Amino acid sequence: MTALEYDRSFIWHPYASLKDPPPVRHVKSAHGVNLVLADGRELVDAVSSWWCVAHGHNHPHIIEAMRRQSERLCHVMFGGFTHDPAIELAGRLAELAPRGLNRVFFADSGSISVEVAAKMAIQYHVSLGCPERCKLVALKGGYHGDTSLCMALSDPDGMHTLFRGIMTRHFFAEKPTGDVPGFARSLERVFAEHPGEIAAVICEPVFQAANAMNFYPPECLKEMRRICDENGALLVFDEIAAGFFRTGPLWAHLRSGVAPDIMTVGKALTGGHVTLAAAIASERVAGTISSGSPSAFMHGPTYMANPLACAAACASLDLFADADYAARVARIERLFKDSLSPLKGLRNIKDVRVLGASAVIEVEHLPARCDIERVIDSHGVWLRPFANFIYAMPPLVSGDATVLRIAEALSDLAKSEPGPAADGDFHE
Ligand SMILES: *Cc1c(COP(=O)(O)O)cnc(C)c1O
Repeated sequence: MTALEYDRSFIWHPYASLKDPPPVRHVKSAHGVNLVLADGRELVDAVSSWWCVAHGHNHPHIIEAMRRQSERLCHVMFGGFTHDPAIELAGRLAELAPRGLNRVFFADSGSISVEVAAKMAIQYHVSLGCPERCKLVALKGGYHGDTSLCMALSDPDGMHTLFRGIMTRHFFAEKPTGDVPGFARSLERVFAEHPGEIAAVICEPVFQAANAMNFYPPECLKEMRRICDENGALLVFDEIAAGFFRTGPLWAHLRSGVAPDIMTVGKALTGGHVTLAAAIASERVAGTISSGSPSAFMHGPTYMANPLACAAACASLDLFADADYAARVARIERLFKDSLSPLKGLRNIKDVRVLGASAVIEVEHLPARCDIERVIDSHGVWLRPFANFIYAMPPLVSGDATVLRIAEALSDLAKSEPGPAADGDFHE
C-alpha cells in the first residue's frame, strides 16, 4: 500500500466523510510560509494551517526553545507542580492582556479554554450566591470550538445543528453588523427576556471567523460592555482567532477601548508550533471564585501548561515583541485590498472584504471541487474554501510577493464557474 492508501484505510480526517473523501496532500516538511509535499512540490500556506502559523513554519527561534526545553523537562502534572516556562509565560501574558486581567489558566486547546472561561463565568455567579445565573449569551454567526459547550455557544444555525439534542440551550443576540444600535437592542432584548439567568456574554471581538467570516464595528464591543455592566453579567472576549495581530492590533478588542472580564487566547500563541491556549481572568473574577464555596476552580487537563508548549509560546512572544507586526499586517491589508477590490460586482461574488491579514470573498456558490484543486496546484497556493467563503489568512510574515501570489490564486478561484451546491461541506 502507498502511504496515501494507508491514510485512507486507517485515518479519519476532520470534517470529512470516509465515503468519497476529499483528497489529502502528504506533507513532508515545511519552512517559512511554505509546505513541502511528498512529491517535492511546495505550496504557500495561505491558511496559516488554520490561522495559527503567525511567524512561518518551523521558526528557528521557536524550534530552539522547544529543543532546549525538551532536554530539561517535557512534561509534569500541573497539580502540585510549577515550572519555569509556565511562570514566564503567565507573567508575559498578564502583561500583554488588558489591565486587570492577570490570572492565567492554561488549557490544551482553544475549545478547552472557552469551556474554562464559561465555567469561570458560571462559578463566579455561584460564588456571589446566584447559581441561577448559569446561561451565556453568544452571538449569531459566532464560533467558539467543537466541544459540546463550545458548540452550544456557536451559531445556532451553523455547522453543529446535528448535535442540538445534546446541547445545553444558551441565548443568542443578532449577528453584529454595521447597525450598532440594532445589535445593542437585540442584546438588550435577550437580557430583558431572561432576567437573572445570564452569567456572561461571549463573542469573537471584531472578527467572527469560522462560522461567518464577518468583520463588525468595535462599537458593538462597547455596547456589549455597557449592557453587561448594567445587568451584572461578565464579558468574555474569545481572541483565539483574532488575537496576536490578525486584525491589526495585538488584540482585536483594542480597537474598542473596552476590556473583557475574561479573555481566551490560543492558535497563534505558540506561533502554530504546538497546541496551547489559555483563559485569562480578571483579579475580580478569580478573587470572587476563590472566596466562594467551593473556592477551588474545578478544571485541570492532563497536559495543562505543558512545558514544551509554554516554551514555544514564550519564544513566539519574543518574535511578536521583536518586530512591528502591526505594520506587517497593515501592509498585507493594503495589498489584499488593492488586488482584490476589482472582484467586487462580478458574477457569483456577493462581497469582498479585508481586515488586517484576512481576506474574504463571499460567493453565491463555491466553485466545483476540481476547480479548487486546479487553482491550488497551478498557483502553488494552499486554500481551503468552505461554506460560501473563499478566503486567505496567511502567516503574518508573508512578504509582498507571497501576498500578491495568494491574491492571484483567490481571484482565479473566485472567477471560476460556480459548482453544484455542496452537501455536507459546510465547514472548513
Ligand atoms: C479555533 C477557534 C476555537 C477553538 O480552538 P481549538 O484549538 O480548535 O479547540 C475557539 N474559538 C475561536 C474563535 C476559534 O477560532
